[in-house]
Amino acid sequence: MRLLLAEDDSVLGDALSKSLRQSGYAVDWARTGQEADLALTDQVYSLAILDLGLPKMDGFEVLRRLRQRRSKLPVIILTAREALEDRVKGLDLGADDYLAKPFDLPELEARLRALIRRGSEVATPEITVGSMSFNPVDRIVRIDGTPMELSSRELGVLELLMLRAGQAVSKEALVEHLCSWDDEMGDNAIEVYVHRLRKKLEAAGIQIRTVRGLGYMLDKVPV
Ligand code: CA
Repeated sequence: MRLLLAEDDSVLGDALSKSLRQSGYAVDWARTGQEADLALTDQVYSLAILDLGLPKMDGFEVLRRLRQRRSKLPVIILTAREALEDRVKGLDLGADDYLAKPFDLPELEARLRALIRRGSEVATPEITVGSMSFNPVDRIVRIDGTPMELSSRELGVLELLMLRAGQAVSKEALVEHLCSWDDEMGDNAIEVYVHRLRKKLEAAGIQIRTVRGLGYMLDKVPV
């Protein structure tokens, strides 16, 4: 799951992107409003966290332009200002939620999950492949009801394969799904994660097939 974080405060931005990455999200961190606007135009995200006081273009303008493009992307605005009118203006412009600084990380993450859940309510119920199930909201993969132990990168790979079960997923799509701007990841790394996942999935009778020239596909092992 890929998030855009627009925040010009380097200490806060660094802390936020680190902790969100640890929670398994791919985070692109934009330092200016202009950068955020470009990213939101170019890339597909699951959610955006938008500071209001940003250089070059303020958060209100970024949000206004996003909604003008008819994007329904869930947006949380961050504001240092206690001013009620800022919150009201943000919500009027189409923000889904707001947090006043300073805030606690667990609270931000809880609100992220709530917004992602709301956004995916209609779209994606639990996905199953054989004995394996994946819940896109809490992002837990279970085999016969037991949660699997996965690193955040393994989870990212398996998540995309589950979301597109029955279709081939290219290595490029996997890299895109896992990585933020400042990460470097090659095809080799994807092969390593796939290798580890194959071992973990073997006993459950689930395979990750290599589809020549196309990528990987998740499937039940034929009996
Ligand atoms: Ca700021």
